[in-house]
Amino acid sequence: MSAESRSNAAPWPVAPRPFYEEAFGSWLGRVATRYQISVGTLWELSVSEDMPVLGTAGWILFPTISRSALGRFATLARLDDGRLSHIQTPPAWLADRRCMPYCFRCLVLNDADVSAPRWKREWLDPTAEFCSVHHSPLETVPASVFRLSNHFDAALRAISRYREKCLFRTTGRLR
Ligand SMILES: [Zn+2]
Repeated sequence: MSAESRSNAAPWPVAPRPFYEEAFGSWLGRVATRYQISVGTLWELSVSEDMPVLGTAGWILFPTISRSALGRFATLARLDDGRLSHIQTPPAWLADRRCMPYCFRCLVLNDADVSAPRWKREWLDPTAEFCSVHHSPLETVPASVFRLSNHFDAALRAISRYREKCLFRTTGRLR
């Protein structure tokens, strides 16, 4: 596909809307799930410029994208630019990580839409330690979960497997 044909491409038939507290990578991962493709392929099919280089946490810690890429995604998803610009990752948060903190209850129980788990942007803040809703310490998953998952649903499945493994180990120790 040429850059020109890509920039003229029609909007996506369906696109999940980003939640206000969601991370940009989470939204992109959910769009990729919708079309059963990888985040990398989604980028290639959507934007004529190269995808930013991702770190150890893959697409969940998605570097701030260019104005033109932002405009392109906004057109494809029929959103205004502001909506996507609001959920960009602040450059100060971009660093390679071994683990990504998150709150499992918040991940799976999205107040705005129970059927749509999403990754909160605040969990990408390197200083995040507690859940702002539940006031409990954040759990962690290996950053590789996102690097090795094609899209959001694949990452969710990997997170569940990792949690089960951890719970199993904890129970084993207590016995
Ligand atoms: Zn929480």
